[in-house]
Amino acid sequence: MTIIPASTKILVTGANGYIAIWLVRLLLEQGYSVRGTVRSANKAKYLVEYFGSRGFGPDKLDVVVVDDITREGAFDEVVKDVDAIEHTASPFTTDIDDPQGYIEPAVQGTLGILKSTLKYGTNVKRIVITGSCAAVMSPPSKPTVFSEKDWNTASLEDVEKNGRNALTMSKYRTSKTLAEKAAWGFHEKHRTEVQWDLVVINPPFVFGPAIQDITGGPAGLNTSLKSWYDAVVADGPKSQELSYTSNAWVDVRDAALAHVLALQKEAAGGERIVVSAGSFVWQEWLDVAKTIQPYPLPNHPPAKGVPGLEKSYSIQYNTAKEKRIFGIKFKTMEETTRDTLENFAERGW
Ligand code: NDP
Repeated sequence: MTIIPASTKILVTGANGYIAIWLVRLLLEQGYSVRGTVRSANKAKYLVEYFGSRGFGPDKLDVVVVDDITREGAFDEVVKDVDAIEHTASPFTTDIDDPQGYIEPAVQGTLGILKSTLKYGTNVKRIVITGSCAAVMSPPSKPTVFSEKDWNTASLEDVEKNGRNALTMSKYRTSKTLAEKAAWGFHEKHRTEVQWDLVVINPPFVFGPAIQDITGGPAGLNTSLKSWYDAVVADGPKSQELSYTSNAWVDVRDAALAHVLALQKEAAGGERIVVSAGSFVWQEWLDVAKTIQPYPLPNHPPAKGVPGLEKSYSIQYNTAKEKRIFGIKFKTMEETTRDTLENFAERGW
């Protein structure tokens, strides 16, 4: 049963982001109307032009500037008259020193949208939040299978103990963990007052073609796709190190699709859902890239890495819940690699 039918209006926060712009595109293509929020007029302009040129004018997409998502009441106006919300805005960078630089926008942004909905979102029936496997998985020392029952505790400990000196990824992972916990806590506290339920989508690393505005070449890529570029195309010293690191991944188009299905599947209500295509070691991406013919980036032949590297998946996910509720037919490594390299080639990289 579809609970939020196409033809209704969906609010997408951080609409210019890597995942969110694919989400906006899928929503529009399926017939939804979208209100997107971004942090500046320039970012709004890109979205209006990108979707305008694809036939989605102001009657289907309006873009509103919310410059500071931590400000009290920041979302009060934009939640009015929407039927559902997709909250994606949250910092995923590697350049913030103070852990609060991640935690405040993640937690206050999440609580802010929920508080505004409580006050003014009278039509809202479902809120979908972009969580992360960062909130599920504590970096393991031996191969481990995680599921929605797990919460990352290790990153919080690192941040509590080491503050600014904690690992950058611990700061980010802490922000995602605290934000998700805050969301579930808020919903539980106000359960009897609200007419909406909550879904949290927890993707691992997201790769695949980028359609957001990117300035300054590959350096301007979002964090996850930049890691992929560095490992597969640039082959810097960091990528050699990454050849030995295992994680899990999902194509950006499938991550976006999960956010759409989260509106449409009754059974998603009240669930956190890990959306993963599988585990990888970086060497696998390099090996797959070598098989893509003709190779889209003749000036950047694929990095060699360490051919024949024995793979060990330290991070794995039980995806039974995703299969039961969404059943996405995930893009393969080959599809994602080909489309991503072609996307880089179109950008002249
Ligand atoms: P992007 O960096 O492309 O998008 C992040 C979005 O959040 C942008 O719209 C950005 O706005 C906004 N944002 C960042 N910091 C702030 C802030 N301090 N205040 C308000 N808005 C902010 O990254 P992704 O698309 O990858 O990330 C989107 C969501 O997906 C995030 O919640 C992230 O945690 C989550 N996620 C991402 C994964 C991945 O591998 N990419 C994996 C799992 C979860 P602006 O452009 O103005 O900076």
